[in-house]
Amino acid sequence: MGSAFSGKVVLITGAAAGIGKATAQAFAAEGARLILADIDTSNGEATVAAIREQGGDAVFCQCNVADAAQVQSMLEMIERDYGRLDCAFNNAGVEFEQDKLADGDETVFDRIMDVNVKGVWQCMRFEIPLMLKSGGGAIVNTASIAALGAAPKMSIYAASKHAVLGLTRSAAVEYGFRGIRINAVCPAVIDTDMYRRAVEAEPRKAESVARLHPIGRIGRAEEVAAAVLYLCSDAASFTTGIALPVDGGSTCI
Ligand code: NAD
Repeated sequence: MGSAFSGKVVLITGAAAGIGKATAQAFAAEGARLILADIDTSNGEATVAAIREQGGDAVFCQCNVADAAQVQSMLEMIERDYGRLDCAFNNAGVEFEQDKLADGDETVFDRIMDVNVKGVWQCMRFEIPLMLKSGGGAIVNTASIAALGAAPKMSIYAASKHAVLGLTRSAAVEYGFRGIRINAVCPAVIDTDMYRRAVEAEPRKAESVARLHPIGRIGRAEEVAAAVLYLCSDAASFTTGIALPVDGGSTCI
């Protein structure tokens, strides 16, 4: 075990699977005290149990990030039980829609915006006041390469991730001088349940997707986790408001 985040209180949303889970494991290995939030209680509790078995410090909190009351009560619990919040990784998100824009459905639009945009806004809205009480902190939001460009059949998802960058940059400008750094990671295709569901829906995608990345393969959740730990660390002390691609070079094409 390392000690880069020893004693730091870290909140991760969407921590029951994929990128959130891998990031929880990476923070735990560096000594962080973790609050893992998700709507999926059984996989969230399993992630906590696995971290504790390795000697890590983690609790699970069931929380729908799109629900203001649930996010507020989670942050109240963190203040009561830990007295501070040093880092937050606002990562919970839902996948793209698989339809072209004119075939879109309003229910799908609302669901993607609720989780991907309102969820990130809602989390920062309650995290920032708690961070300010202890003099600052670091926030990382999960955007996507869909925040930096476009691809077919994901206009709503792309709009939601562009909005995550808008929230990230605005908050970075507002709170930088008060000691909070706020950045975003922009993953390309990462091998998680979300990716596997997309491939199941359109199997032909799997054949071509690796070629979209100059590195020649899709990414691993651990590779996004490493970028998140960097952005939360003192090594990134002069870095705020950025959108860091973790993309195997795909945005160069
Ligand atoms: P995943 O589906 O494997 O995991 C997402 C987790 O978020 C799940 O545990 C899920 O239960 C949780 N979640 C969903 N809605 C929630 C809500 N309302 N409140 C709390 N938790 C909720 O997905 P992943 O691939 O690990 O994706 C994580 C983030 O990365 C998402 O924001 C996603 O948009 C983004 N992303 C993923 C990829 C990729 O290729 N996998 C690429 C770019 C960006």
